Amino acid sequence: MAQLDTREKLAILADAAKYDASCASSGTTKRNSAGKADGIGSTEGMGICHAYAPDGRCISLLKILLTNSCIFDCHYCINRKSSNVRRARFTAQEVVKLTLAFYRRNYIEGLFLSSGIISSSNYTMEQIVEVARSLREDHGFRGYIHLKTIPDADPELIHQAGLYADRLSINVELPTERGLKRLAPEKSAAGIAGAMRGIKGSIDDGHDAKKKYKSAPRFAPAGQSTQMIVGADSANDGEIVTTASGLYDRFGLRRVYYSAFSPIPDASAILPLQRPPLMREHRLYQSDWLMRFYGFTPKEVVSATGADGMLPLDIDPKMAWALKFRENFPVDVNTAPREMLLRVPGLGVKAVKAILLSRRWRRLRLEDIGRLTVSVAKLRPFITAADWTPTGLIDRVDLKARIAPPVKQMELFAA
Ligand code: SF4
Repeated sequence: MAQLDTREKLAILADAAKYDASCASSGTTKRNSAGKADGIGSTEGMGICHAYAPDGRCISLLKILLTNSCIFDCHYCINRKSSNVRRARFTAQEVVKLTLAFYRRNYIEGLFLSSGIISSSNYTMEQIVEVARSLREDHGFRGYIHLKTIPDADPELIHQAGLYADRLSINVELPTERGLKRLAPEKSAAGIAGAMRGIKGSIDDGHDAKKKYKSAPRFAPAGQSTQMIVGADSANDGEIVTTASGLYDRFGLRRVYYSAFSPIPDASAILPLQRPPLMREHRLYQSDWLMRFYGFTPKEVVSATGADGMLPLDIDPKMAWALKFRENFPVDVNTAPREMLLRVPGLGVKAVKAILLSRRWRRLRLEDIGRLTVSVAKLRPFITAADWTPTGLIDRVDLKARIAPPVKQMELFAA
């Protein structure tokens, strides 16, 4: 590996980390005040991304890899052994120094650290743990730490990681075991599940211990999360939703992140040539939301998919479900229980809360509901109100065409 200075390593290892979506980074436009007569700041700072703290605050994280060298050869990964990319590697102490320097300058509030596998899973995990240990113990670092853990590392190392980190994550990588076998043959679904189970056990034990003893050490207080690549294999949305809900149930995950597969340079011939539509990733996040906040069961979300097992791209999954199961509508906004109101397309959790509060004092009219939603036209067929009954509307064959947003012209030169 060529000798690189810290800045060059940072450029390579921050760029290599951008494929990981599980820190919930948010995109923005490129702006830079460098070389300008006025203005300050840049959105192009290497390795800085944003995540949300448990209390809803948006925090900036230094998001980097320890190294982009890897002994594995996962087909979809730009850092795989056979990939022709420039390699770099930080030492644990370099990451510590960089984190502290960024933190002192107020650029970041925490660290998101992942890594390719250096010479063995255990060795790599030791390095990752050492970064977090040194930050916490040698430097009293109180900022947020998210560590990506290596599933087949020694469970004791993963446990140590959880004692220093706020959040741990292990990428499940692909939605199905057959996809994992095909595209990441050196990884094992059983190994990934075992490591997630171990983390869940330690989180649960940590909670129990904290209830008994105030001084008990905390273990990954922000829980564990995972990331799934969408569109690199043949798994359909139904399979993805089912896998995600199984992960939430079995391992108590805080979040399952979806990352639309993006073609990489010198890609393996078994990968698709094109990335899936970004809207697909968005629809999967919406379906995730339906299960977490709207009371939908995974089966119900899957039932909103088409014959090919895919969620429609032109309408959101809640609308797709409502159009398919019209016998549940219209819903009376003045009497329906919360769980039915939450199923009305166009009514969010906040709007439903407002409806439940206001209807204690008076009967709600269509215009009252209109004030709580972006498009009253979208929800009119699905509700009755004091002055509104959607006579025959719900049974119309052209209902979808009447309420779905018009299809946009595809960009001719879109990637
Ligand atoms: S183990 Fe991780 S870094 Fe290595 S090739 Fe696979 S996905 Fe990439």
